Amino acid sequence: MQPISSSYLMTTTERPDPVLVRGNGSLVWDSNGHRYLDFVQGWATNALGHSAPEVTQALTAQAARLVAPSPAFFNEPLLALAQRLTELTGLHQAYVSCTGAEAVECAIKLARKWGRKQHHGAYEIISTRGAFHGRTLAAMAASGKPGWDQLFPPYPAGFTKVAFGDLDAMRKAIGARTVALLVEPIQGEAGVVVPPAGYLAALRELADEHGLLLVFDEVQTGLGRTGRLFAHEWEGVKPDILTLGKGLGGGIPIAATLGNARACCFETGDQGGTFHGAPLACSVALAVLQAITSPELLGHVRAAGERLARGLEACVARRGLLGSRGRGLLQALELGRPTAHAVRDACLAHGLLVNAPRDSLLRFMPSLRVTGSEIDAMLEILDRALGEAG
Ligand code: PMP
Repeated sequence: MQPISSSYLMTTTERPDPVLVRGNGSLVWDSNGHRYLDFVQGWATNALGHSAPEVTQALTAQAARLVAPSPAFFNEPLLALAQRLTELTGLHQAYVSCTGAEAVECAIKLARKWGRKQHHGAYEIISTRGAFHGRTLAAMAASGKPGWDQLFPPYPAGFTKVAFGDLDAMRKAIGARTVALLVEPIQGEAGVVVPPAGYLAALRELADEHGLLLVFDEVQTGLGRTGRLFAHEWEGVKPDILTLGKGLGGGIPIAATLGNARACCFETGDQGGTFHGAPLACSVALAVLQAITSPELLGHVRAAGERLARGLEACVARRGLLGSRGRGLLQALELGRPTAHAVRDACLAHGLLVNAPRDSLLRFMPSLRVTGSEIDAMLEILDRALGEAG
């Protein structure tokens, strides 16, 4: 085979040298035959691990049947998926798109439409500093990632930011033009930032008090990742609008925006997209949902999450790190020094893929089916890498 060059790719991100060719469960192989234990899992998209049999089976069966008839026609997997998602969330209707950013973009449009029709023309959305909602311009405007406001101005107007977890700040930011509050139940990209207990429930009350829409972006925390089907279930509250992505397709691009009966106000022509709701991805999402909602899986995620959390705590104590945090199989290690990239590279050299979203922080988001021995093997490599580079 010809050597593969990266020079034809636009420069957007730093990547290590290995070229990945194959995956199975928690393992992935590069073109030189090296094997890696994968605790990145496509940034938490491979909910069931690499090439999960259900995903492969649904893909091949649907590929042979009907792939993309266009959103101008109904298709069976789309109808079934919308129904299943509303059953699982208790929300009223779904819009199915391809990526998390599109799901958020759709949520923003839905909130603005609702504001125009139902809330005296209000359009402003209050989100949180450090938040990550995607890379379309409106999703970037809603995000609070440091430095992003400098990247591609001017951004769409109508977004206000407050500190994550600070209820008073949220209350004070509400004004006559406010239409919605938008938060991640746990800030994922910001470094698995868990808000104070009761924050989501208090946001629900605040939104109700002011007649606003509450939007939870569960692109990262949804679909079993935290040990409940949705992270908002930990506080027993429901949003008016919910975004899902990543794990929904088990690695295949699909995302969804759901709304309750109050919020669902789109009319013909308001939203669309060539690949939105295509049966290929919808049939995979149905298979993924079936696996995730099996009685054992969420219990497994909670147990595996505890094992991972205990292992990371031990690591903190042994290596004198700052701390660890997270919920279920979304965990982070706060190193307390800017060595995360060096530790990540040392892990790679020892056959482990981990993510370093910040200079001093590592994030762990394995397959929801990760085994206890895979977690232990990961912790062993991590400890060695911390010894060398941490
Ligand atoms: N929202 C959240 C909470 C996310 O974590 C992400 C992706 N990291 C997105 C939205 C955007 O998803 P995508 O990259 O699929 O557009």
